[in-house]
Amino acid sequence: MLFPVKYVDTNLSFLNDVLRQFIQKSVVLTRYTKATLFPAEFIPIHDHARNAIDKKFRNVFLEIKKLDHAEKKRLLRTYINHQRVKKLCEKKTLPKLELSSFPNALQIRLKELGEYLYTSGLKNAAIRKLANGGADEGIDSLLLHSQRYRKENGTVCCFCGINDYEEQLADTVDAKQWRPAYDHYLPKEKYPFAAVNFNNLFPVCYQCNSKSKGAEDPCYCKIDAGRKLSFYPFNVESKGGLFFSYSVNETAVLSNEFWHVELNDDADENQLTWNRVFKITNRVKSRLNIKYKKWLQSELGGNNLTTAELKNQLQNAAVDNMAKKRTTRDGYHKSLTFMNLANMRDELLESIVGALNDEAVPESRDAALEELTELGFEFN
Ligand SMILES: [Zn+2]
Repeated sequence: MLFPVKYVDTNLSFLNDVLRQFIQKSVVLTRYTKATLFPAEFIPIHDHARNAIDKKFRNVFLEIKKLDHAEKKRLLRTYINHQRVKKLCEKKTLPKLELSSFPNALQIRLKELGEYLYTSGLKNAAIRKLANGGADEGIDSLLLHSQRYRKENGTVCCFCGINDYEEQLADTVDAKQWRPAYDHYLPKEKYPFAAVNFNNLFPVCYQCNSKSKGAEDPCYCKIDAGRKLSFYPFNVESKGGLFFSYSVNETAVLSNEFWHVELNDDADENQLTWNRVFKITNRVKSRLNIKYKKWLQSELGGNNLTTAELKNQLQNAAVDNMAKKRTTRDGYHKSLTFMNLANMRDELLESIVGALNDEAVPESRDAALEELTELGFEFN
């Protein structure tokens, strides 16, 4: 990840407490005793005819009941380990304990329960009110949580620095409002015990969540079947970095191979995991080769700067962009690009600027002027 984020509290973590009590009691009970399995105030919600909560919990209980004593103890240990998200990421000595070593039927029921609690449980109005101690004032939701998270951590995805979190719709009631996707850092398919644990839930951009990461496990790499270290996003020390370099060949300035992107420390297993899970170097490389000319063009601003003046301006722009990496898309990537350009030998930078001037602009300035005039704007 490019920069750490701060944990933002929510009373929705109540649902994780309900799950904890249920698992802890399920491994010792022989009968499905609601009064023991759940907090008393949760039972009316459990029994409510219009939701499937009772069925999801019961299905898991029935499968746990089939385990022998030793297996039940092992399941509890697995539960406890899967709650220690930070430690699983940062300490390879903590065994991951595979859910796959338990009977298939139990795995399926646990996944169904985790999925249900995340997709329906956190939305359930009665659960949300209960999570707030029964008071109407201060009821939380994923939408409200994501808004506070954005205020605290900025609008740019901390895993890639490329995209904003999902934008909000204007003039839309909360029930229909968009919110950023949440990534289950330890994927809920493999860690259903951590499906509603807010130490495992991070707002994330669409590309990182759906295109890059999916159910990829930061703590385990399938390719070499190895337990891996991973950045934990809420640890203030968690910070990956990139290293940009460029071809010294002037003829390559317009090709998609001009820029190269690497991890700034490829001996750091945390960074390797970041790259495996989020495909960061490939994504940034592709983006850089397409975008850098536009970024440079906007710094030139049509002015006839000398190369020395341009380099000075690029250095200033690099600092500005680094300062706003959490609030402006590509801030980090622009910053590194500008520093590289500013430190480039003069002839190469001049050949890039020359190539920019030769590049065809998709729409002419005349056409743009006409379009704005048609929209009713006047030019003085
Ligand atoms: Zn992202």
